[in-house]
Amino acid sequence: MQKIYNFINGNHCEAIKKKYIENFNPSNGSVYSVFPDSDEEDIELAVQSAENAYPAWSKISAENRFKILNRIAEMIDDKNEDLALAESIDQGMPLWFARTQIALSAQNFRFFATAALQYSGTNHSIEGNYANYNLKSPIGIVACICPWNLPLYILTWKIAPALATGNCVIAKPSEYSPATAYMLSEICYQAGLPNGVLNIINGTGEKTGNLIVEHPKIKAISFTGKLNTGKLISTKAAPMFKKLSLELGGKNPNIIFADCNFDKAIKESVRAAFLNQGELCRSGSRIIVEKSIYTQFKKQFINELKNQQVGNPVLKDTKIGAIISKSHFENILNYLQLAKQEGGKILFGGNPIQPKGLENGWFITPAVIENLNIESKCNQEEIFGPIVTISPFETEEQAILMANSTQYGLSSSVWTENISKAHRVVSQINAGIVWVNCWMYVDSKTPFGGMKNSGNGNSGAWNIMDFFTEEKKIYIKY
Ligand code: NAD
Repeated sequence: MQKIYNFINGNHCEAIKKKYIENFNPSNGSVYSVFPDSDEEDIELAVQSAENAYPAWSKISAENRFKILNRIAEMIDDKNEDLALAESIDQGMPLWFARTQIALSAQNFRFFATAALQYSGTNHSIEGNYANYNLKSPIGIVACICPWNLPLYILTWKIAPALATGNCVIAKPSEYSPATAYMLSEICYQAGLPNGVLNIINGTGEKTGNLIVEHPKIKAISFTGKLNTGKLISTKAAPMFKKLSLELGGKNPNIIFADCNFDKAIKESVRAAFLNQGELCRSGSRIIVEKSIYTQFKKQFINELKNQQVGNPVLKDTKIGAIISKSHFENILNYLQLAKQEGGKILFGGNPIQPKGLENGWFITPAVIENLNIESKCNQEEIFGPIVTISPFETEEQAILMANSTQYGLSSSVWTENISKAHRVVSQINAGIVWVNCWMYVDSKTPFGGMKNSGNGNSGAWNIMDFFTEEKKIYIKY
């Protein structure tokens, strides 16, 4: 069993009250690690160390900031296998997938290291005898609060731009997946990140997360997590005028038109529904298929699922790993019961299974449900597990109506070979990201974020650099 420590002022330390919480290996239900149950005093120490580090870090040259962040990227790459293994055991994702996420975590640091060199203020030519220029400066101490579904990827997606813009960071990994954040703290230390610039505090969301949100010296919060947590954080942060970046849930439609490239649409729809056990904010969890190919699509989709090996995440052939926690596992199974009560028909899967040697793990075979009303809870609520609903549509208008029918608006996919139809549909879908004939792809240079209740869409690329900075507008009369 591993003991995880907080990372404050460049040191690994216990919580002051020396209390620990157990974290479980989702594949076998055993205790994988214990992590500090941090409270006020621990956060105060972290804030003090960030405050002390801020004057030097905020003034360090962009060149030196680049060098340190780039070194972190290289060290993450060098340790890809160790980090991937820890991520896979801690989170339950297949090891091959974890390797890709660790590589992307390095890329996050690399991208924002170079962004530090290129980011600058703006100026405008204005009328009259005035000159204008606008300075960008770091905010000060900022918080990065992260979920468990892509632990290191999302942590680095936040920390890297916060550091690149000269802020000092208090980061909180999820209490369900603290392993790789702990390993990252060691990497940052060895890469020469000055003490106190990054502080990683562990604990539950209700206590530690809430204390971070309420701390008056933390002026901005970048949060990724559930819609309801985002709502709660907003109510606390708004009266304190904190800057808030919210990346919340999704219930993403995957629209299949009859004129699509059928084989490609099938393969990508399976990936979209079940990659990372369906525990992705961008999972294509609602498949909407044109009626003329509905039966054929359903049959082929289910055929493909027979190759989706569910089991031990570290084995090479595993496609679907373990569900993050017992409570989430039970929650997903409850949705399968609810689907039946709502009149849904389970066409395939949805069974809890116990792979050999992992009898106490939390595994569910990928489930396909049809016959659900678009207003049903299973079609409206984010389940965040290996469950996909499938429904037919007759007209383009109906497909768009169904796609837009939830409170979420994170992402969507449209499958058609008709370019005019693709443009027409894309323009009417209320989602922050619309993929045409693909899924999941994002480039670091593009903004990322949702519409409606999926968040406020100010993440990624220059958007997140802007989020982590203040802009001072200067006018000079000449
Ligand atoms: P969660 O909201 O339960 O927890 C997220 C983080 O917030 C954790 O670190 C948790 O400890 C902390 N937290 C919980 N309550 C808090 C509180 N009251 N105050 C402060 N912090 C608190 O979410 P989760 O279950 O870890 O993550 C899954 C959710 O994240 C899904 O809804 C998923 O769609 C979403 N997500 C969104 C994106 C995106 O880019 N939009 C990306 C990944 C995940």
